[in-house]
This record gives sequence, structure tokens and C-alpha cells, in this order.
Amino acid sequence: MALTIGVDIGGTKIAAGVVDEDGHIVEHLLRPTPATDPERVAESIAEAVAELSEGREIEAVGLGAAGFVDETRSVVRFSPNLAWREEPLQKKVSTLVGLPVVVENDANAMAWGEARFGAGRGESHLVCVTVGTGIGGGIVLDGALFRGRWGMGAELGHMQVVPEGRLCGCGNLGCWEQYASGNALVAEARKIAEADPGRATVLLELAGGTPEGIEGKTVTEAARRGDEAALAAFSSMADWLAQGLCDLTAILDPGCFVLGGGVSTAADLWIDQVRAAYAANVTGRGHRPLPEIRLAELGASAGLVGAADLARIR
Ligand SMILES: [Zn+2]
Repeated sequence: MALTIGVDIGGTKIAAGVVDEDGHIVEHLLRPTPATDPERVAESIAEAVAELSEGREIEAVGLGAAGFVDETRSVVRFSPNLAWREEPLQKKVSTLVGLPVVVENDANAMAWGEARFGAGRGESHLVCVTVGTGIGGGIVLDGALFRGRWGMGAELGHMQVVPEGRLCGCGNLGCWEQYASGNALVAEARKIAEADPGRATVLLELAGGTPEGIEGKTVTEAARRGDEAALAAFSSMADWLAQGLCDLTAILDPGCFVLGGGVSTAADLWIDQVRAAYAANVTGRGHRPLPEIRLAELGASAGLVGAADLARIR
């Protein structure tokens, strides 16, 4: 069976694995990312590929990179977390490893992994939304990954949902990820705890007494213990998530949504509300089949598996 290697390059670690045609990871390894040095990043990837290739015939390598990747799947134009600026990653790595290499945006790779082998299996039209510190996304239409004209499509977190709203890391105001991400959850919990500490007694106790001490895991734990402010923060995040899914439905009419990312590990606290708010607000409700809102199944390996599979489609 033909094997490829998938590499998921994040801001802190590089995860690489040998993947077979059925999406199974045959062997896997992790390395720290030398994030400030593009040459060292390419070398680390090449070292990981060399180690995994030993004694195996590898067909190609797929790299999932956190950044804007150009339409030829070669150059990382910009990355917010790594020192990549017009980085010719495909050329550098393929020279080092002597194999065909493709570069893909990490959220696109994740979406493809879920579409092929995870929660979206068998679905030709789907939108994958990764809810972590920000919001990432990937879109599959007619069974193919949608990249946009210049490879920069599906930056779902930067749809503007609130005119003149909260400042986003991208420089614009009111982006979706400022209202429906893990960071938004923490910001909302801090805001409520500051304005009305009586509603946030458990939350503040867990946070060492100050709103600044509140983190994502604090909000999750406080919500599980019934803290009013923590529950309100989850409720706000769920409503904003549902709103964005409604907008995406109006544009794309997907067959299903797949929700993943760090915040989905606490999905029991918010998924029912997302489904209810979505069903109550989506345009054409009552006259259209509703897409299922599913949770991702491949966890942290979705990007690696997706990148490995995309390396086959060259
Ligand atoms: Zn933004």
C-alpha cells in the first residue's frame, strides 16, 4: 500500500507521521518548532521525514502550515506565529528530502482529514470549523478542497460579525473569532466576573481571585460546577458560533458542519445550544434539510492525516 508522510507545523511543535491510503497513522513523531528560524524549520521537517522514511518507500510529503499558503501550494506568504514571509517551503523541503512535497494551510489540511477519514466521511459538501484560541476553517465542495483563487479562502474566523466590534489580531474590528473562539470565551468570562463578581464566585476562586487569572480551563471547570458567569460565557460563545454557521449556510448550503479545535474538548457544555440556536435562526428553516452539526473525530492528528492525503493528489 502506498505511503505518504504528513507533517503538521504549528507554532510550538512539529508533528509528523507516515499515513497509509486509509488514513491510518503507521508511525508518528513530535519535534519542537524552531519558530524564529525558517532555515531550521525546514531542516527539522527534513530530519523528521528522513527518520520516518527509514526502511519504507514513501511516495510524497504533505506539509500543513499555519499561515497563508499560495495557490501553487508551495510558498507560505505569511504566518502569524512563525517567522515565514514569502517562504519557499515546498522548494526547501523537497530539495532536502528528495521527494515531491506539497504545502497546504493547516486548517485546510485538518478539514480534508475530517472529510476523508473523520466526522465528514462520505459527505461531498462540508465546512470544518476549528474553535481554538482563534477560529480556523476549511471548506470541501463537490468532494474537493476549496482554496479560493489565491489559496487564501476559508479564513472563516475573519468574517466580520459586529460592525465596529472588538479589535482582532488581523487588524480589523468585529471578526467572528473575537466572539466565538476560546479567547472570546475567556474575554467574556473576565468581563462578567469584573462587572458582577457575585455571579462568578466559583470562577474567581479557581482563578486566584482576579479576573485576569481566568483561563480557558478555569471557565470550563467553573461551568461544570454551575458557576453562573462561566455558563453565561459558554452561552454567549455558543450563540455566536451558531450565528456564523447560519451565515455560512446561507452562502454554501453544506451537507454537514464539523466542529473541532481545543474548545471542542468541552463540547458537552455548548454543542446542544449551538444546534438549537442554529436550527432556530438559519435562513429558509422549515423548508430546507438541516445539515448535521458534528464534532470532529480525528483530534490533533486531523491536520497530519489530511496533509498526507493531500500529498497524493498532485
Ligand atoms: Zn480578524
